[in-house]
Amino acid sequence: MEINILGGGPAGSAAAIAALTAAVPARIFERSSRRRHKVCGEFITPEACGVLQELGVWDEFLHLRPARIRRCNLHFGGTTKTWELPECGFGLSRYELDGLLLRRAEALGATVVRGESTHGSGAGPLIVASGRNAPAPRGNRLFGFKSHFAGPADENVELFFFRGGYIGLSAVENGITNVCGLAPEGDLRACGFRLDEFVARLKPLAERLRPLARIMEWLTVGPLVFSDRIDGPVTPDTYPAGDALGFIDPFTGSGILNALLTGRLAGSAAARRIPSHDYVERCRGLLERPYWASTLMRAALKLDCVGRLAALIPGQWLFRLTRIGPTAI
Ligand SMILES: Cc1cc2nc3c(=O)[nH]c(=O)nc-3n(C[C@H](O)[C@H](O)[C@H](O)COP(=O)(O)OP(=O)(O)OC[C@H]3O[C@@H](n4cnc5c(N)ncnc54)[C@H](O)[C@@H]3O)c2cc1C
Repeated sequence: MEINILGGGPAGSAAAIAALTAAVPARIFERSSRRRHKVCGEFITPEACGVLQELGVWDEFLHLRPARIRRCNLHFGGTTKTWELPECGFGLSRYELDGLLLRRAEALGATVVRGESTHGSGAGPLIVASGRNAPAPRGNRLFGFKSHFAGPADENVELFFFRGGYIGLSAVENGITNVCGLAPEGDLRACGFRLDEFVARLKPLAERLRPLARIMEWLTVGPLVFSDRIDGPVTPDTYPAGDALGFIDPFTGSGILNALLTGRLAGSAAARRIPSHDYVERCRGLLERPYWASTLMRAALKLDCVGRLAALIPGQWLFRLTRIGPTAI
């Protein structure tokens, strides 16, 4: 038996590593013909570190000198909410993180087929780890964007909120700062999708960016559609993982953790021929709380009352509510 995996992002690589650890061969089909930068805040939540250790990439991860993130600052107009993270988080570009995970899968024996967007044979288990897939309804859709900046970096993850969206800053490797956000299409269209102009409109953010210089083109992605529930598998032999299973609002900074965890679970379930329905039920149990919390925050963001809601909830709680608890991992 060989497991076919669609997608070579964190979920697909974690799935391959788990399958190969259970001595079942895995073949990854990755649509991109080469490694690339992705639109992502690149914040790696502390809970992900244990999973990276289990996947056998922790030492190499540290070798890539990820930034250490110790504090969170949320900016709502003129007010700021600040707290220390319960444990240190990390910042590493997706270019490096995805490369690291895929190398590990290959080192364990995975076959990686690049430039392919379908899996070859119809037989055997299929892990679908091809990222977001929900169709976007017409209307004021959301788009994501990201770039890297050079200049003084610090140990904070910062989010600047505005009606319907936000822009985050946090350091990654080599003293680079990632600037990544999402915004309603209408707002972006109003400035012709010129993102330098768009970020300069938010006064506190423009101030924060003043000492920094952009060192790569803006990347954009979308439309983005969030999931508020986990759908069942298409067939008993199909195991959706990562964003293909459900896409959580990125302000939680937990998408990579969810991808690594559900990818690892999918690889191990497929290798043991555990029915995919049981695997998805397990994922539902893990993701229920973060999905609920992020749906609530998103509704508050749309109504422009996220600052008032966040003011009521202690920062550390807010952080815990939006992610899978370490005990479940
Ligand atoms: C604006 C934004 C900011 C974010 N910020 C953060 C953050 O700071 N921290 C965090 O933890 N998460 C963040 N996320 C979420 C995080 O990026 C995702 O949750 C994570 O990438 C999911 O990993 P994945 O492997 O499921 O999917 P992906 O990383 O999307 O990987 C899927 C892979 O499949 C490939 N593919 C697609 N279709 C096919 C096909 N048909 N056949 C073969 N291959 C295919 C793609 O090329 C891709 O490489 C953010 C997301 C966005 C949009």
